[in-house]
Amino acid sequence: MSCGQLTCADIVSSYLQEIEKNKHLNAFIEVYADEALERAKSLDVKSSSPETWGKLYGVVIGIKDVLCYKDHHVGAASKILEQYTAIYNATAVQRLLDEDAIIIGNLNCDEFAMGSSNEHSSHGRVLNAIDESRVPGGSSGGSAVAVQANMCMASLGSDTGGSVRQPADFCGVVGLKPSYGRISRYGLLAYASSFDQIGIFAHTIEDAAAVLETIAGPDEYDSTCSSSPVPNYVSSLKENKTFKIAYFPACLEHPSLDKEIKSNIEQCMEALRKQGHVLEPVRFDYLDVIVPAYYILTTAEASSNLSRYDGVKFGYRTDAMVDNLQDLFKKTRSAAFGKEVKRRIMLGTFVLSTGYYDAYYAKAQQVRRLISDQTKEIFKSYDLLLMPTAPSTAFKFGEKSNDAVEMFLGDLYTVYANLAGIAAISLPLFKHSNGMPFGLQVLSDKLKETTLLQFSQHTMNAFEHV
Ligand code: GLN
Repeated sequence: MSCGQLTCADIVSSYLQEIEKNKHLNAFIEVYADEALERAKSLDVKSSSPETWGKLYGVVIGIKDVLCYKDHHVGAASKILEQYTAIYNATAVQRLLDEDAIIIGNLNCDEFAMGSSNEHSSHGRVLNAIDESRVPGGSSGGSAVAVQANMCMASLGSDTGGSVRQPADFCGVVGLKPSYGRISRYGLLAYASSFDQIGIFAHTIEDAAAVLETIAGPDEYDSTCSSSPVPNYVSSLKENKTFKIAYFPACLEHPSLDKEIKSNIEQCMEALRKQGHVLEPVRFDYLDVIVPAYYILTTAEASSNLSRYDGVKFGYRTDAMVDNLQDLFKKTRSAAFGKEVKRRIMLGTFVLSTGYYDAYYAKAQQVRRLISDQTKEIFKSYDLLLMPTAPSTAFKFGEKSNDAVEMFLGDLYTVYANLAGIAAISLPLFKHSNGMPFGLQVLSDKLKETTLLQFSQHTMNAFEHV
């Protein structure tokens, strides 16, 4: 990644033009046009001394509206934070800046990252640039579309249950969710803290690897962040290896899986075998319970995380007459949270309540443990695991918005990686006869991003012309 003959200012200007041209897609909440140009000009001053360049010198990046960027608005696409300004930088954002990246704006998403279609945002929906009658996926829909429509080189999103991989799949770009704890969550507005992970959208594996290398690694501000050192992901991409790969037949046989997606993935698996990889079917016992377990645990964590938005310390406060503090909380939260967020807070509060805790929350924790244990066993014998990213291609606006359960079931293939804390990526390899792109999901064991990225690089090259 370098500016080559162009100046950083030229590059920023050209992205600003694309942003202007694609304004109707509604991917950006705010564009930092003047500021990004200023920063580009200050980077251009050292253009003739590459030895002084940071790793992401001149790389133009957009960030999801859940990442704190000091002195800039951050709102999780929610009315409750519509006036809120970040008072510090998220660690990931700080590391981008330290390595000379240029942040061009913040990106639309589902409110508090809850959703699979970007239809739940206080800033309105984001359109898929390939077919504007279809959703971009969610919750990081703006981040996916910003890369898809060339409005920035790479973007950051967050992935609690698929919010990077599924929109990447729907938009035809690379979407990487690193292992839990690979990237610090400091400065990421929380949805479900034991699942949340910052993820990366890019056009190429090299770009995703370069961004990961920059923002990953230990952080004293996040005790759940892994202390393991960050490998040199970019240089390891050159190695060409063959891998031992598992797949779950139950995933491919699932009735909700689109037939064409299934047959394309099966053909791809055949081609991978011919390239020398070993692919073997492996039993997985929990496919039917992963979505329920995910929605019980994440809504429980969300109900606790979102209790801080009460109209007292920060964010929106009702201007209606209130009788007491409880009334202030109620009126503020009723007025400023959207429908989906309210649904999840109520569901989460219910599964944590006396009398139901054991039946739901504790049970789901047990399921999570079983899933983790089986995953550990699988990765003792295999390097990687393959499955679809989503059961269908990008659906039409409104198609699922009145049926929450149907929307939730669409997360069948993505929530597994978050429950197990492992790394996963969606590779944009296929095109459906309906004109929409879709991806292959590849998963690796915890902190084995090097393996994941090496395989991804070679697979993307091998199938480039599919
Ligand atoms: N679609 C999932 C949900 O609504 C995933 C969200 C996410 O990863 N942030 O919970």
